[in-house]
Amino acid sequence: MDAVIKQMIVGVDLGGSKINVILADSRGNIEGRDWRDTLAHEGPEAVIKRIIKSIKQVASGADIAGIGIGAAGTCEASTGIITFSPNLPEWHNIPLKDIIQREFGLPTYLENDATAAVLGEHFFGAGVGVENLVYVSVGTGIGGGVIIGGQLYHGASGSAGEIGHMTIDVNGPICKCGNIGCWETFASGTALAREAMRRIESGAQTTIPSFAGGDLGRVSAESVFLAAQVGDNLARDLIWRTAHYLGVGLVNLVNIFNPQLILIGGGLSQMGPLLLDPALKVVSERAFELPARAVRIELARLGADAGALGAVALVLQKKFST
Ligand SMILES: [Zn+2]
Repeated sequence: MDAVIKQMIVGVDLGGSKINVILADSRGNIEGRDWRDTLAHEGPEAVIKRIIKSIKQVASGADIAGIGIGAAGTCEASTGIITFSPNLPEWHNIPLKDIIQREFGLPTYLENDATAAVLGEHFFGAGVGVENLVYVSVGTGIGGGVIIGGQLYHGASGSAGEIGHMTIDVNGPICKCGNIGCWETFASGTALAREAMRRIESGAQTTIPSFAGGDLGRVSAESVFLAAQVGDNLARDLIWRTAHYLGVGLVNLVNIFNPQLILIGGGLSQMGPLLLDPALKVVSERAFELPARAVRIELARLGADAGALGAVALVLQKKFST
């Protein structure tokens, strides 16, 4: 087995805006990378060609054990099919695993990107040695991955972990999944930016637009964060609100899963304590006491490489586990 593990592994993170392809060893050391725009509007065929080109570039000349893919969409891990993705238009029942496997003649594995990320943190990041672990990716939307008893939890048809779509308010905003009041309509970066725009349009005094080039249409979670860092009161209120709703969803996860560790990753995790502290307060006030005492809620460690390193971990788990 040692001889085999000396081989390198390709990890692909297929996101709605970027494709991150890495070449890594079995300890998660990254030795090569290709990072390019997804250009999802061009449709699946063009994106798949781009992925293949990227893998060829990264894997050139290396001895490869396998290819792992974490994709931003609902994936059927057993068949390697991306069934649907809100962030990749026109991706309906695309057999991505088979296409890549045929192209390269290498064992290939596919998972949802947040599911891959939890495995990445479990193998290489903040979740090493933790048997019961929930990963929460807070970015454009909210994704999640769950490890129970040291194993990825897939559910009956492989779609488990869509934690961003738990209902937080039955009278809330319509979510892009079609349901109403989902967690990600309150606690994602998109929700934060939308609420900022709403408040600015209704006349609130704030410096937020100056961090979006003066263009209200370009206000993002990042512009709110930058304004908060220079003490803007509205920006701080908006982040507190997001953090509060983040905490409400975390209470549900703590009560349902009784995990040892919840890791917060994704773009909004860069806000650090500004986001985490109010969320932790909600958990301590509202969650059941026993699971609340058992859980640590921390920032994830693998950053923007969580999905790609998770895809590497996927190959290690599938190909080398006994
Ligand atoms: Zn939803």
